[in-house]
Amino acid sequence: MTFVPLLGLVLLACVAGANENSLRVVALLSPENGLLQETAFNHAVQHMNNDLRHTDILEKEIRKVESFDSFSTGMITCDLTSKGVAGIFGPHSPSSTGIVRSICETLEIPHVLTTWDPYGLPSQYTNNLYPDPQVLSQALAEVVRQMRWRTYTILYQDDSALVRLQGVLQNTNPGDNPIIVRQLDPNKDYRPTLKEIKKSSETKIILDCDPEDILDILRAADSVNMMDEYCSYFITSLDGHTVDYSEFRDTGPNITTMRLLDPSSRMVQHVVRDWIDAEARDGNELDITPETLKTETALMYDAVLLYTEAVVLLNTSEHILQEPLECRQPGRWRKGLDISNFMRLRQVQGLTGLIVLDANGRRTSFSVDAIEYTFEGFQKIGEWNPIDGYISTRTHEELDSQISTSLSKKLMIVTSREGAPYLSIRNQTDPPTLFGNDRYEGFSIDLIDEISRILKFKYEFRLVADNEYGNFDPKTGEWNGLLGELLKRRADLAICDLTITYKREKVVDFTMPFMNLGISILYRRTEKGETNLFSFLDPFSFDVWIYLVTATLGISAVLFITSRTTPYEWDNPHPCTSDPEELENNFTLVNCLWFSMGSILGAGCDILPRAVSTRMVAGWWWFFALIVVASYTANLAAFLTVAKMEAPLKGVDDLAKQNKIKYGTYKSGSTAAFFQNSNVSSYQRIWAVMVQTRPEVFTKGNAEGVDRVKKEKGDYAFFMESTSIEYQMERDCDLVKVGGELDSKGYGIAMPPESPYRTKMNEAILQLQEAGKLKMLKNRWWKEKGGGACDDEAKDEPEDSNKLGLSNVGGVFLVLFFGCLASFIVAVLEMLWNCRKIAVQEKISPLEALKSELKFAVRCSVDTKPVSKKPETEDNEETEGASFMQLQMNFDKA
Ligand code: GLU
Repeated sequence: MTFVPLLGLVLLACVAGANENSLRVVALLSPENGLLQETAFNHAVQHMNNDLRHTDILEKEIRKVESFDSFSTGMITCDLTSKGVAGIFGPHSPSSTGIVRSICETLEIPHVLTTWDPYGLPSQYTNNLYPDPQVLSQALAEVVRQMRWRTYTILYQDDSALVRLQGVLQNTNPGDNPIIVRQLDPNKDYRPTLKEIKKSSETKIILDCDPEDILDILRAADSVNMMDEYCSYFITSLDGHTVDYSEFRDTGPNITTMRLLDPSSRMVQHVVRDWIDAEARDGNELDITPETLKTETALMYDAVLLYTEAVVLLNTSEHILQEPLECRQPGRWRKGLDISNFMRLRQVQGLTGLIVLDANGRRTSFSVDAIEYTFEGFQKIGEWNPIDGYISTRTHEELDSQISTSLSKKLMIVTSREGAPYLSIRNQTDPPTLFGNDRYEGFSIDLIDEISRILKFKYEFRLVADNEYGNFDPKTGEWNGLLGELLKRRADLAICDLTITYKREKVVDFTMPFMNLGISILYRRTEKGETNLFSFLDPFSFDVWIYLVTATLGISAVLFITSRTTPYEWDNPHPCTSDPEELENNFTLVNCLWFSMGSILGAGCDILPRAVSTRMVAGWWWFFALIVVASYTANLAAFLTVAKMEAPLKGVDDLAKQNKIKYGTYKSGSTAAFFQNSNVSSYQRIWAVMVQTRPEVFTKGNAEGVDRVKKEKGDYAFFMESTSIEYQMERDCDLVKVGGELDSKGYGIAMPPESPYRTKMNEAILQLQEAGKLKMLKNRWWKEKGGGACDDEAKDEPEDSNKLGLSNVGGVFLVLFFGCLASFIVAVLEMLWNCRKIAVQEKISPLEALKSELKFAVRCSVDTKPVSKKPETEDNEETEGASFMQLQMNFDKA
């Protein structure tokens, strides 16, 4: 394998010759670096020398230094320089780096670092292969931003971490959710801190600590139940991927980290195998895999690589020889600066990717992978570099299959509450034979069962202890009921008639609604027979009855006037007397009244009109009577056959306007919250009334509300969700839904916040909806299982038994009115015609005749009329005509 240009190395071998010309490179290693750092340095140098056809270009030496003892580190460095050294690698500890950097700068010896060095000042002779702290901080910040966490807690170990995390800290704006920054206990007692975090319901943690401490911290988190799938950890260490997280695989927390080196790269795999083989040849067993190779170990290898590359490059133009230099005497190595500069000019492909240093010897250009721990180990989800920023590499399919795999291995804890038809407890025999989920039945069980079949997970139903849906209690600062279970991570799903509300949605995740509904009023129908002795009056409204009586009186008056006006209702009272003295009118006021009543009541009457006008009046009245009687009969039949009567309420406005009927709702549900938070004035009023009414109108559940509606027989109305009302109406025909729905909302399945399963759940619900399964389930639990108790007729609002109002029968009154008018006109015409005849007969003017006739007509008390006698001079023809008319009238009467 040739990572250094072979030609250069061959030349270097020729020029440098054998051992005496080798360049001495020294690694200053502290005990914390462990054996692997040493191995990496040894093998890197050995590898370079081997590649030069066994010509030792580099002569290696390892010196142990104490991490925090900069004085002895300085002494060791001076000792090394006094013997001649061409390059110093390390040390690891930032506190002793300074002295080595300073000596190298003075004596112009190349200095190579492979550690995170946040405080180091730029130097011409120091090159650091570890990613630049500023740029690394940007990378961390960007990856965190990509995760779109709403809120998180930063847990760090030592203060220098804040330099690394400055980008993350700057991520948040003042308006965002505040982030919490906490330092881990230096004595390594992590539990108390994690317990507090758990209490604050925080689930997103950015963990900045030594890789050696990661497992201990996560175990402490596990002990306070912070290692489930709803918890996410972002580990800032570039060695986070070398830790074995398999013990948390089943609980499934989301662990994300970043790495500089790619264990799957061929170079990494090859180098690690070389090391293992080489150590094995020496009888040592090296405990390392590409996955556990640490960043600094790899960087040590890369550092030797880059250094050798620079030396080879320089050696092609000039001969390099190291020189002994004393710390206390002025002096410098003339080749030092060149080697350092050549390191900054060259680019080498190393274990940690392409190594490029900037003019200050810092690694500002690098690429890191964002990786996530899954059932199959770490998977790359994206990569970041300073030029392109973050690029997501995870496809939708990958994410999908990852969630599916985790679901298939999961036992979902489903929390629910008792309440038919969503969940009821089955009757058990003694001893009980039903266990686990079989103890329950209902819509919720069937729905989760259908979803579990699609998503292939196992589930276990558990009832919530307080049987509440979920309300925030300001006193305890906690949510109760089903939501409390989710937030305390005691359940993965919550299902029942749980309404999706804004407040709830803010703290937990909901699926799309599986059922739609609205608030309505549950009320009890009143029995007609129970309350009204005068129900025979019901078919017509009060107005109509008044109009009817008025019409009867009116028609009698019209008939009376018409009969007096027309001459043809004046008749010979004694038909045997051919020449009567006076004529008589049968239609007296009392007779008219009798006639009109007899007609409308269907009894008939022995007095009948004879004149066209009076017959017209009678005709129209009979028509009127026909319609009115038919309408009354039909409506009365409807009233008598439908035993139940509609509620005296038509909707929420009727309820709000009265105070006889009390109304309430379930006190800790979304319905109560709807009224409490409403901006609509009538709903506000309803809420105020409900709060003030005594005895209390709020109930502990829907079942209590339904009982109360039934028991209080029309004196109590209950605001309930339409789906639950429908369920009750299917079983109890006395119950009725009054009015429409006040709002529109839905029931959803709730999950802990930012649940990874939400999308999958939504997909399953959509699938069930499209297949018609949701409808089928609703039918099963609403209608088939105990529903359908009321036939459709009884369930219907008894609209056909509604009273007939004026709007229904007003037309027939109009017909009667115009008919009477027409009849009256005819009567007047008849009168005028008669006046003309009288005028001719009596040889008076028609006006005089009209006057006398009118005078007579208005004298209502007189009901006989003297017959006008013809004057003697009248011609025969006229006399014959008059006697013929008289005869005709007598004949008619007979
Ligand atoms: N479904 C309601 C809830 O989730 C409870 C019943 C109600 O308030 O009417 O809070």
